[in-house]
Amino acid sequence: NRQMTLAARPVGTPRAEHFALKTTPVPSIAEGQLLLRTVYLSLDPYMRGRMSDADSYAEPVAIGGVMVGGTINRVVASRHPDYQEGDWVLSYGVGWQDYGVSDGSFLFKLDPTQAPVSHALGVLGMPGFTAFMGLMDIGQPKAGETLVVAAATGPVGATVAQIGKIMGCRVVAIAGSDEKCQVAREELGADVALNHKASDFEQQLAAACPDGIDIYFENVGGRVLKAVLPLLNTHARIPLCGTVSNYNASALPQGPDHLDWAWSTILTKRATVKGFIIFDDYGHRYGEFAEQMGKWVSEGKIHYLEQIVDGLENAPEALKGLLEGKNFGKLVIRVGQD
Ligand code: NDP
Repeated sequence: NRQMTLAARPVGTPRAEHFALKTTPVPSIAEGQLLLRTVYLSLDPYMRGRMSDADSYAEPVAIGGVMVGGTINRVVASRHPDYQEGDWVLSYGVGWQDYGVSDGSFLFKLDPTQAPVSHALGVLGMPGFTAFMGLMDIGQPKAGETLVVAAATGPVGATVAQIGKIMGCRVVAIAGSDEKCQVAREELGADVALNHKASDFEQQLAAACPDGIDIYFENVGGRVLKAVLPLLNTHARIPLCGTVSNYNASALPQGPDHLDWAWSTILTKRATVKGFIIFDDYGHRYGEFAEQMGKWVSEGKIHYLEQIVDGLENAPEALKGLLEGKNFGKLVIRVGQD
């Protein structure tokens, strides 16, 4: 049983030396338990937070502990009445390893005939749920409004952009390369897509939002946030979902302090900013999401971009790349064969 463990807490970018690949015996199971074999491992920006012991909404991974994460597993052996050998499940209790033991908690059965099982790590799972609740409940989109979303080809952003179109918004997508921008326009249906690395990005954003910004779905912070704030309309809504541009930061940025300017902009625009942690705040509404998103995906109204990288040993490098925008779509590690 190969296990990817946390060897040291990174300062700044996580690198190979912060992880250690260990091999342990395949665990055995007791009555009421199941043995799970990992096929797919989800990589997500929040994992950078789990590597740090800074104060957070969730406990950090212990040094020497197995990295946490959502996985798609096959049931290899079952002494649990609700599961049989061969079942497909989504698990939040196995993490970055080949095998895990479960007592049935944090486990969800999947139907492989309904959708590719890996999609339960993206559009049909946690990131899709995040996009759905953040936009619908906090963003309150209305037809004709302007919605801006960055990390627009990632699983959260791509879903936000497409729900925005379904709701009749004008969608301005922001991504980190011209190729990603092209996909945001052509496959996700964004009205405009802008590269946040362009030297005149701020001017491009202002030109792309002639009627101002009604909803800014916040995934990234940093330069994009600074460009968005002056363009907000009165009563704008900001679902505050993530700030991935600073996840590797170990100190505050140099330069002028924008805090008071940002604060008074929120006041004068009478904007609503609401942070949320998806399962903590909306876990009770998962059924509503699953029904609606399943319908949209099966009707072809929402497209899904996925990038699969082979091998558990490549997960650390892939996580580093995710935080730097090297992924294109939902990043998934294929840990083992189907
Ligand atoms: P993505 O697959 O979109 O990966 C992160 C992306 O962020 C990168 O691909 C990159 O895209 C972009 N990015 C990285 N650095 C910068 C930067 N400096 N400026 C602008 N963009 C940058 O991730 P997810 O869709 O899984 O997650 C999106 C956000 O949602 C994250 O902030 C995540 O933490 C948050 N989240 C929050 C949840 C909650 O409960 N609140 C739950 C799930 C996710 P590009 O190349 O296009 O710039």
